[in-house]
Amino acid sequence: MATLTVPNPVTDQVITALEQAIGKEKVRTDLGARIARTRVPAPFPVHRFAEYMPDVVVLPESAEEVSAVLRIANQFRVPVVPRAGGTGLADGAVPLHKGILLDIKKMNKIIELDLVNRTVTVQPGLNMLKLNEYLAPYGVFYPDDPASYPVSIIGGRIGTSGWSLIGSRYGHTRDLVISLQVVLPTGEIVRLSDGGGAPKVRKASTGYNLKQLFIGTQGTLGVVTEATLELFPKPEAELAAFFGYESFADAYRSTGALSTSGLGTLAAVILFDERKVDYLRRDDEAYIPLPERIKAVVATALYGVEDEVRAAANRLFRLAKETGGEYLGDELSAGDWASRHDRYATPLHGRLPDGTVVPMSWHCEDAAIIYSELPAIKQKWHEITDRYIQKYGIFDNWGMFFYSNNPYKGWGDYLVEIDIGIWEQALNEETWQAWVNLKREITRATLEHQGSISACHGACREGDAEFIPVELGEGGFELMKKIKRLLDPNNILNPSKNYLHLAYVDEEVGA
Ligand SMILES: Cc1cc2nc3c(=O)[nH]c(=O)nc-3n(C[C@H](O)[C@H](O)[C@H](O)COP(=O)(O)OP(=O)(O)OC[C@H]3O[C@@H](n4cnc5c(N)ncnc54)[C@H](O)[C@@H]3O)c2cc1C
Repeated sequence: MATLTVPNPVTDQVITALEQAIGKEKVRTDLGARIARTRVPAPFPVHRFAEYMPDVVVLPESAEEVSAVLRIANQFRVPVVPRAGGTGLADGAVPLHKGILLDIKKMNKIIELDLVNRTVTVQPGLNMLKLNEYLAPYGVFYPDDPASYPVSIIGGRIGTSGWSLIGSRYGHTRDLVISLQVVLPTGEIVRLSDGGGAPKVRKASTGYNLKQLFIGTQGTLGVVTEATLELFPKPEAELAAFFGYESFADAYRSTGALSTSGLGTLAAVILFDERKVDYLRRDDEAYIPLPERIKAVVATALYGVEDEVRAAANRLFRLAKETGGEYLGDELSAGDWASRHDRYATPLHGRLPDGTVVPMSWHCEDAAIIYSELPAIKQKWHEITDRYIQKYGIFDNWGMFFYSNNPYKGWGDYLVEIDIGIWEQALNEETWQAWVNLKREITRATLEHQGSISACHGACREGDAEFIPVELGEGGFELMKKIKRLLDPNNILNPSKNYLHLAYVDEEVGA
């Protein structure tokens, strides 16, 4: 039995083959290009930076060039890691085994706008902000709207199966992608939609629903090179309304009532716990100068046709009042909602237990949790985090958010997020391991409360990934391993992500 665990290193021969295939100017071996693509904004073991630096960066411009890169990688058995905006918070784009870093940012063309059928076909390196600027004069928009809206890009949204702030009204990334062109690990180019292959058909029953298989796979099964996306009429009205509560318990009950209101224009319901409100007061990250009696906040947003939004607002305000909510005003509501779409300021607010301000990296632990378990998860995650803060003194607790998570309705499971700061410069192997253990404890608590390890970021890191077999069960994980081996026989595409190094252990692979 041969065991394939670690792929081969990149040699001069590989570089020459890449240069011949896609052109010298698209193959970069300089230190700057490689350093810039080593990590993502999630906490990183900076004391081991060099272990993850890619050997070479390629910048293909077409599916054919991506295919050529993957064929070379198979020939020489070297790893390839796709990277889009590099904002993923679960390390999906981190090259765990170095190798070839495939940056898709040059693939940023709009291929076709079809206003009759309400679709736009794009290359995956395009940013949603830029796409919507292009679409605005036509009165349509693409509503994938994460808190990383200005910086994440379409390939990464598909790679992570991203979550959108207004997903309860418009759906999330997986609901907004109609069809995909994918280059398989062995280089074949395929077109896949929902149950068929027709690029603009939203629902078919011709074949397997293979499109979904390639969404959220963190670039482990193929490289997306084109996507046909859903377009909506640009909303005539967007109304953000924030309500304050004197206790978390009140805000939690109100969240349930608002989420189950059945209002079709309700795009988001977001609960901020006491620690999040404290943090916002402390650091003024967002626009939230609240009176002290306010301990928790529920943010809501209505999007749609003006007449519908107006009518829904009446019902929403009545419901919030009946459940103990105090309207926090137009200025605060609009101001804070605007800041939710771009949360890059977070890392500037690290505080040590003695109050010293230091730059901290932002960890955003996300999980999908059902409504009934939210209070218990909140308590457990805070207890775990506070214990590590006390013991190690390099972490900070930035509170929790609970977002309505379901497409086309507010109720069901919630994207639960705890934001934790880490003083990266102070990391050594001991504190890094402490950090991983903290994550492990949070993940265990998630599973104990019937949750799923990640709602949108993915589970690629130590502390998350090893729990994938636990959550999926033996049969489910066995199936994942079989699919990975079938599509990627030489384990070249984003190896070891999603704990899939296990797919190749004790299997007869290669020579
Ligand atoms: C401030 C901030 C706020 C955030 N808020 C949100 C939020 O509200 N909702 C949310 O979902 N996420 C959020 N995130 C996380 C992150 O922005 C998302 O995970 C996003 O989808 C990643 O996109 P990216 O372009 O940066 O991808 P990358 O990080 O570059 O890649 C992500 C994954 O996709 C794979 N990939 C990239 N391109 C391709 C391709 N062409 N084909 C196949 N696989 C590919 C990569 O290998 C990797 O595994 C936030 C991040 C930050 C920093």
